[in-house]
Amino acid sequence: MSKPWWEQGIRFACQGSGKCCVSRGDYGYVYLTLPDRRRLAAALGIPTREFTRQYCAKTEGCFHLDNREVECMFREHGRCSVYEARPTQCRTWPFWPENMKAKAWTAVAEYCPGVGKGHTVPAETIVEILREQRRSTEQL
Ligand code: SF4
Repeated sequence: MSKPWWEQGIRFACQGSGKCCVSRGDYGYVYLTLPDRRRLAAALGIPTREFTRQYCAKTEGCFHLDNREVECMFREHGRCSVYEARPTQCRTWPFWPENMKAKAWTAVAEYCPGVGKGHTVPAETIVEILREQRRSTEQL
């Protein structure tokens, strides 16, 4: 199998822009695993069941944040108000399987100011993050 274009790693450091928290087509839903819902509920100091009732919707059997607006309901003043407890989908951004083709990455780099900043994230770390994202997708 050929080596990925990012085998030397990729420079990335979140700049806290919150741009990934604004819906754009395919990125419309923030999906939530059960551990995600538990963590967010604990952060908000409410039972998981209450969190699910108040903040979630279900599409094709999968829970996601019930974001009715373009902007995520937890984005306040351009920042994530639940950052420490944020969903896996948010924590693993931008290293999602669908972003790792060179063309898709170019599109990500156009709106995410973290791309090309900070230290190089080694390929092994990227592989780990990709695994975590895949695992979480399987848990939906
Ligand atoms: S939960 Fe936080 S990091 Fe995730 S989309 Fe919403 S505001 Fe952004």
